[in-house]
Amino acid sequence: MFGFRHHRMREERLAAGFLPEWRALLADRFGFYPMLSDDERGRLEGLALGLIADKHWEAANGFELRDEIMVMISAQAAMLILDLPADSYRNVHTILVHPTTYVLQGPHSQVAGLVSDEPMPILGLADFNGPVLLAWDTVLDDARHPGTGHNVVFHEFAHKIDMLDGTADGTPPLADRAQFDHWVAVCTKAYEQVVEGRGGRSLREYGGVNPGEFFAVATESFFDDSVLLRAEHPDLYGVLRDFYRQDPATRVKPGA
Ligand SMILES: [Zn+2]
Repeated sequence: MFGFRHHRMREERLAAGFLPEWRALLADRFGFYPMLSDDERGRLEGLALGLIADKHWEAANGFELRDEIMVMISAQAAMLILDLPADSYRNVHTILVHPTTYVLQGPHSQVAGLVSDEPMPILGLADFNGPVLLAWDTVLDDARHPGTGHNVVFHEFAHKIDMLDGTADGTPPLADRAQFDHWVAVCTKAYEQVVEGRGGRSLREYGGVNPGEFFAVATESFFDDSVLLRAEHPDLYGVLRDFYRQDPATRVKPGA
């Protein structure tokens, strides 16, 4: 039954297309949306509609799932893959939205292999087989305020891109050996700087937890605070630009 209903809903959503009111919502609440070209906006809408129709969406704790929630999350996730293959989130199955930050109780691993009993506040989470978890209030706040270097949707969906090759090791699938060698050299150097507390303003300390977190934090900075990352870590900016095939710093107009 569920499969049939899901299939019908999917067909209906795709047939309805990207609704005009969703466009208005993005213009109002997604700070990067007005900076995109018409062509990019068109691709973003197509990718976001695909995520809305294809993924299994759930709201936690009696929270109600609204179109607004799916639109805001999908559009931000789509930013990352504007110039990547359209099925780059094929490993995302369920997106589970909490109303606000929630606290994970009981034993859990904070860093791979290290199990802790300390309550841990969660803004978002992505692992191999589980859902992508997001706190809605943080999603909205990050969308409204570009330029902070923080974006929980960019962060969690970057983890899923990293995991496309089967490992969350901070290296997504790359084109060839030369790109891989250059990636490893540049990222290792920047990662070590973060570990030593020399990441600058663009790479926050959390990126020093492990290479997987480094990639997620660097992706946040690359899209959300691109001009600063380019100034502080030009080599890292360059490998991310080559990987994502986007140059977000050129979208930011001086004085904006
Ligand atoms: Zn993370």
